[in-house]
Amino acid sequence: MILMSGKDCSNYIKEEIKKELNNINNKLKLVVIRVGEDAASKVYINSKKKACESFNIDFEEIVYPDNITDDILINKINELNNDTKVTGILLQLPIPNHLNKDKIINTIDYKKDVDGLTTINIGKLNNNEKSIIPCTALGIINMLKYYEVNLEGSNVVIVGRSNLVGKPLIPLLLKNNATVTVCHSKTKDLKSHLLNADIIICAVGKKHLITKDMVNSGAVIIDVGINRIDGKLYGDVDFDNVKDIASKITPVPGGVGVMTVTSLISNIIECYKLQM
Ligand code: NAP
Repeated sequence: MILMSGKDCSNYIKEEIKKELNNINNKLKLVVIRVGEDAASKVYINSKKKACESFNIDFEEIVYPDNITDDILINKINELNNDTKVTGILLQLPIPNHLNKDKIINTIDYKKDVDGLTTINIGKLNNNEKSIIPCTALGIINMLKYYEVNLEGSNVVIVGRSNLVGKPLIPLLLKNNATVTVCHSKTKDLKSHLLNADIIICAVGKKHLITKDMVNSGAVIIDVGINRIDGKLYGDVDFDNVKDIASKITPVPGGVGVMTVTSLISNIIECYKLQM
């Protein structure tokens, strides 16, 4: 079994990022908008801040209270869209339910949309045009390539169909000539689909949803899930038992999560290039 380390792959990508940044004379800047006091969001934003600082990219966090209105957020985003010092804008999710999430996200100029969540970037991705790719999906594809996992002709089963992870993986995997199946909460008999998979990518958020009996011997497993229970992190895959039959597997923590932050830096550079 090969352990697919997010750190090792990320270190490789970071070298590529450094080379790219050497060719950029302007200072890049990421602005993150947070609404409310969600504890997990604060942790994620902190790791984004640290990543930016390590590459000498300016970082600003704008914080609004839970009871903020759509209009205030939209006006701020328009202001940031027009600010030539701002390279990328990220709306930290989740935001409170009373806000119009789609409208707010789509106010972000697609050339500053570091998360790749605007309808324009999603459309471009699905149309095989150059686009900003959602960070986690980009990190997963880079990891599969780094660990030389064959995608062409492989049966890939994605579990989870979120805009952040599952859905953007579909065009990315199809582009690499994989055969893609997407499972979700209404899927009948998840196990039968998984047993047909050469590669499983699980992004659900349920501790140990995938057990050894659901996995083909020799399968490649990408575990995206992050489940914090009593202060400890678990993936969606029962790692300790599944690792014995998988050919390659990502750990949690130390797998996809590390790649997601590195992909954000790649996306800031991609945004910069789009604006040139
Ligand atoms: P999400 O928006 O909540 O989506 C979860 C998906 O799982 C949905 O499509 C849901 O189906 C499906 N699902 C729920 N129960 C299921 C079941 N029993 N069997 C099969 N599918 C089921 O979540 P997300 O944002 O994609 O995140 C998923 C997990 O990945 C979370 O643990 C999150 O913390 C983690 N995550 C990690 C990273 C990272 O960098 N490592 C990044 C993003 C997310 P329906 O569509 O039918 O509801």
